[in-house]
Amino acid sequence: MAELVQRYLDQIRAEHADDGDGALADYIPELATVDPDRFGLSLSLADGYIYESGDAAVEFTIQSVSKPFTYALALEHIGADAVDAKIGVEPSGEAFNEISVDERTKIPKNPMINAGAITAASLVPGTGVDDRFERILEFYSACAGRELSVDEDVYASEKATGARNRAIAYMLQSFGVLDGDPDRILDVYFRQCSITVTSTDLARMAATLARGGVDPGHGRRLMHPAVVQRTLSVMVTCGMYDAAGDWVSAVGLPAKSGVGGGIAAVLPGQLGIGVYSPLLDEKGHSVRGVRVCRSLSESLGLHFLSVPRESRSTIRASYDVESGVRVYELHGDLLFAGAERVLRTLERECVDFDVAILEISRVDDIDDAARRMLAGMRESLRRLDKDGYIVDPDAAMADAEVTVHVFATLDEALAAAAQLRASDG
Ligand code: GLU
Repeated sequence: MAELVQRYLDQIRAEHADDGDGALADYIPELATVDPDRFGLSLSLADGYIYESGDAAVEFTIQSVSKPFTYALALEHIGADAVDAKIGVEPSGEAFNEISVDERTKIPKNPMINAGAITAASLVPGTGVDDRFERILEFYSACAGRELSVDEDVYASEKATGARNRAIAYMLQSFGVLDGDPDRILDVYFRQCSITVTSTDLARMAATLARGGVDPGHGRRLMHPAVVQRTLSVMVTCGMYDAAGDWVSAVGLPAKSGVGGGIAAVLPGQLGIGVYSPLLDEKGHSVRGVRVCRSLSESLGLHFLSVPRESRSTIRASYDVESGVRVYELHGDLLFAGAERVLRTLERECVDFDVAILEISRVDDIDDAARRMLAGMRESLRRLDKDGYIVDPDAAMADAEVTVHVFATLDEALAAAAQLRASDG
């Protein structure tokens, strides 16, 4: 039944497949020669379940999507006070590579622009460049749930051509923000930007933030909740640089983009999204990446300000009424991630029943995305030679294009199930 969500994802991706706007990053040759048509989309639910569409296995360099993770690592190791003494949390409204510090405090305005990100790399403890970088690579790998590596050609180019970042680092040294040799710190930053990931890696990394610092694949705690809260906060206010306001209004997910073409977006408590499409707008964001996130957010109801309540405990109880008929009682708010969970539970358990009855009378609120998914449940169950009914006394499903049988009471649903089973012999 996971195929229902898969279909949504494929459909949303297909809607944007022909968008050819934007240009490849060309400040280094390696980025200018990638295939502009590549387009991968991945979704990681908080429990680690992954959906992939298109070029989700294609590797690209993480670039600035790395910034929130290195910031989180610095917070984790040296604490918020020490980090705050060197990096602010105010949106700058500036381009990512602005040569600037806060006028009053003389420290970088936030960790999402290069000045703040270079400083964050300097705050990760380590005995030297290699040691510090190893710590970063290990941390990203743990979040992604696999061992990541560096694109050595991109790294060499970043290092050879990074005049602007060098200017930023030396400026930071002159203000006393950077302790240590700026070139050695930049070396860590350039390597960090050159780590290769797939859209699925980004989705998993985002899902680690969505789960408050616990990696969804293995259930290990990688960050403290307070670190995640701070990291997500700066992703909201500064993650999309000078397009942050537009992004929050239209998409409403803490996110970070990179000039490699990646975007990672987080719906706290629920899921992580990873997108790859290398054609960029003039602000350095993946054009299709932004559009597809916008479509996903709209059609699945993911805007974080419209999802105030968690939907993890959607199934309140399930029980067999008679052999072959299982009732699932749902409660709370039923939104995309909750409905997805219900469908996956049905898929997993359908060997044990012929008819599943979803009892939704205790559901407080159900959004369009969840309604559509429940409406499609029957079709999916029929393909598995099963059936599915909904008990909906308050007509919460009334607006859905319903192909599923909806009953006003559990007794009516049970009677229909008994009849069906009798007629099936
Ligand atoms: N390596 C790039 C830089 O530091 C990353 C920029 C980005 O992805 O926004 O200039």
